Amino acid sequence: MQYVFDFTEGSKDQRDLLGGKGANLAEMTSLGLPVPPGFTISTEACRTYLATGREPDGLTDEVDRHLAALEAGMGKRLGDAADPLLVSVRSGAKFSMPGMMDTVLNVGLTDTSVAGLAAVAGDERFAWDSYRRLVQMFGKTVLGVDGERFDEALENRKKDSGAESDVDLTVEDLRELVAEFKNIVRADSGSEFPQDPRTQLDLAVRAVFDSWHTERARIYRRQERIPDDLGTAVNIVAMVFGNLGPDSGTGVAFTRDPATGEQGVYGDYLPNAQGEDVVAGIRNTLPLAELERLDKTSYGQLLDIMETLEKHYLDLCDIEFTIERGKLWMLQTRVGKRTAAAAFRIAGQLVDEGLIDEDEALSRVTGAQLAQLMFPQFDPAAARTPIARGMAASPGAAVGKAAFDSATAVEWAQQGDDVILVRRETNPDDLRGMVASRGVLTSRGGKTSHAAVVARGMGRTCVVGVEALRVDPRAREFSTPDGVRVAEGDVISIDGGTGEVFLGAVPVVPSAVVDALYGSEPAPSAPASGERADVARQEVVAAVLRTMRHADARRRMEVRANADTGEDARRARDLGAAGIGLCRTEHMFLGARRKIVEHVILARTPEQRDAGLDELRPLQRADFTEILEAMDGHPVTIRLLDPPLHEFLPDLTDLSVRVAVAEATGSPDAEAAALLAEVQRLHEQNPMLGMRGVRLGLVVPGLFQLQVRAIAEAAAELLGRGLDPRPQIMVPLVAAVQELEAIRDMAEATVAEVAAETGTELRFPIGTMIELPRAAMTAHAIAEAAEFFSFGTNDLTQTTWGFSRDDVEATFFPAYLERGVFGVSPFESIDADGVGRLVSIAAWEGKETRHDLELGVCGEHGGDPASIHFFESIKLDYVSCSPFRVPVARLEAGRAAL
Ligand code: ADP
Ligand code: MG
Ligand code: MG
Repeated sequence: MQYVFDFTEGSKDQRDLLGGKGANLAEMTSLGLPVPPGFTISTEACRTYLATGREPDGLTDEVDRHLAALEAGMGKRLGDAADPLLVSVRSGAKFSMPGMMDTVLNVGLTDTSVAGLAAVAGDERFAWDSYRRLVQMFGKTVLGVDGERFDEALENRKKDSGAESDVDLTVEDLRELVAEFKNIVRADSGSEFPQDPRTQLDLAVRAVFDSWHTERARIYRRQERIPDDLGTAVNIVAMVFGNLGPDSGTGVAFTRDPATGEQGVYGDYLPNAQGEDVVAGIRNTLPLAELERLDKTSYGQLLDIMETLEKHYLDLCDIEFTIERGKLWMLQTRVGKRTAAAAFRIAGQLVDEGLIDEDEALSRVTGAQLAQLMFPQFDPAAARTPIARGMAASPGAAVGKAAFDSATAVEWAQQGDDVILVRRETNPDDLRGMVASRGVLTSRGGKTSHAAVVARGMGRTCVVGVEALRVDPRAREFSTPDGVRVAEGDVISIDGGTGEVFLGAVPVVPSAVVDALYGSEPAPSAPASGERADVARQEVVAAVLRTMRHADARRRMEVRANADTGEDARRARDLGAAGIGLCRTEHMFLGARRKIVEHVILARTPEQRDAGLDELRPLQRADFTEILEAMDGHPVTIRLLDPPLHEFLPDLTDLSVRVAVAEATGSPDAEAAALLAEVQRLHEQNPMLGMRGVRLGLVVPGLFQLQVRAIAEAAAELLGRGLDPRPQIMVPLVAAVQELEAIRDMAEATVAEVAAETGTELRFPIGTMIELPRAAMTAHAIAEAAEFFSFGTNDLTQTTWGFSRDDVEATFFPAYLERGVFGVSPFESIDADGVGRLVSIAAWEGKETRHDLELGVCGEHGGDPASIHFFESIKLDYVSCSPFRVPVARLEAGRAAL
């Protein structure tokens, strides 16, 4: 097994083995770019070390050999007293990871070799500056000394000697600082700063390995969904020096602007500096263009290299470089991170430049980036006062008056005010308030809390889990640890993309991308003002539209929307939905109609019941007419009534109190008492597993029939008007084919009746949700009675894991995420191994029974990028998601099909 690779051996495609930094250093070396020589210890060595607690056999020998070769090539020995070779020890995992160990520079300097370095360079100050940096970095990152202590000592020294910045420190200052730093190391770590160069190197390598498991690194990996077992590589690189005076320096650069995507070279340069000085804000950096004035040759060479890199990587690259006495050295490159806007714009530019094709461009942008561009944003130039930060649950920028309950939110919204609903956490009773608000802010809960899920579904901006906020709904205010108080009616702003909360109103700019997606016409070619920001916006919009066209051409799956009203249906269609995958009917029975449903359920005689049903029918018919009309010519999957019975009954506690009070005051209410007895009889311990869905349909006569009749009548009416309604009737919570058969018989009979009455020809597909494991496992049989399956992955996840979605968030999910039971909540991204397997088995077996069985998904997962890729892999026909998510799903379905 080979653990160590020279830079001349590797390539950019070996990031698994060499880490990103090592692979790219090797790539630049083989491109003939000026990279200081060095070698990489592989991630394999790190993994073995992490598993066994010691360096793998043979690693030391290999390092010896590579070090010897490096020494021979450079003509100096590591830490030599007369002419020392110095190296940097740099971590570099497959994915770049803040939180990993910092780089240690100048390894090899000791009390003796510092003099040799001074003599060879002819610069004593430089040698001692390098040495104090080594003791500082080594102390902090290898020996675990609190970095603040070095910073303080440095600051004090600057003050004492009247130095404005670190470059003003004299040799004497630096000498004393090194002594002081060594004392700090001894006091804080209990060990001496090692004076043997090879020991320095070995300890630094080991520290890089160990840093894989630091808390910060773990947290970052969890957030970014990077596997925990990759390990990091370690790069040993011959030092080049940017701190050798004014003709030396160090810098970072981008081949295009990573913020806006604008073409042209961007970066910062800092003369007479080393390592991270340029990003650490130690002194003011110069814009890269200044380098042209300071060192025209190096600048020209740098531009050439950047062009070489872009042509080679075919993408935006960022680089780190150092100039040592007029000689340019490349220390790092990688395909650079960028904003969502820049991602689309650059992908478009690269297609125009003929560097990549449309498929490649599509693969380089993500649904998450598109989602970001679809929300209004706070004006980047505007001032703001941040007061707290939580989790970014649903993107967007919302400004409004703080309201602490739903009723207030609704009332103010009706008066035309913008409102932010502030709650500790939300529950279904807050729905009206959430609808009325611009944004939702909670102090508890995570990304799959009620507030987060509902807000995302509605496209409302939402920030959750702002634990620093003390929300006091009684006093109608919240406060922060810093003593900021926000009373009801005070204006706040929340950023659902970052999780930030601001005091007062931050100005908002609307999303040009959304306007364009609705209009789906290309943005006008000439910018209104010709200003840079305008040009940028237009280029981004054009790139988005073009990418969407390509995604639509590439994707195999259809994208439908979950929509319950005509308005939502129209919006979904404008955003490119090919139909409605889930039309929920429960909300149609809330408000004034709830009372009628209550009468139907509690009816003592068939006559009472039918009276109620007759009252509901025209109302339902109007609902369906509106939706079918809005989606004319496209499928509309209507789910028959699903929620638990108790949602339609009077509240048990309220009713009990009423009856008890009536009795206590000597005027018993017989009717209320009878109602109470009935409600008690129907009360369930576990309503989500109780009388709901198809069970309700089978037990309450006439209820589902009423709905089917309303659908059929609506369709007949629209047909009569020359339209093309395409309802599909969906039965929820089926576990056994017998349930479905019973409803199917009733539905077919009812549709036939309406067809006869109206003299129209009516035939609708009848199918079922697959949301119980038993349904999935008996898909063969169920498909006999179903023309389509729609996977209700929310309930299927609950019932497969045995989790109650409404409760788990606050109880054991944090512990599960912490322990890595899953990396992301299975309610957010489909659990491919368990729930996904059920879906795939059911899809497969269903198709065996009925080859033209239509297969779709309607749960939260229908709009989730990772889940969409899974559904493409098992060849479902469509995904359905909330209207606002439709463009994201179209894009991801296209990417999944590449
Ligand atoms: P990070 O991963 O945090 O960017 P690096 O390993 O890239 O850390 O090191 C940080 C900086 O240290 C580099 O940008 C470069 O300026 C400097 N550096 C690293 N190795 C060397 C070296 N051999 N010679 C000179 N400077 C170096
Ligand atoms: Mg770097
Ligand atoms: Mg369900």
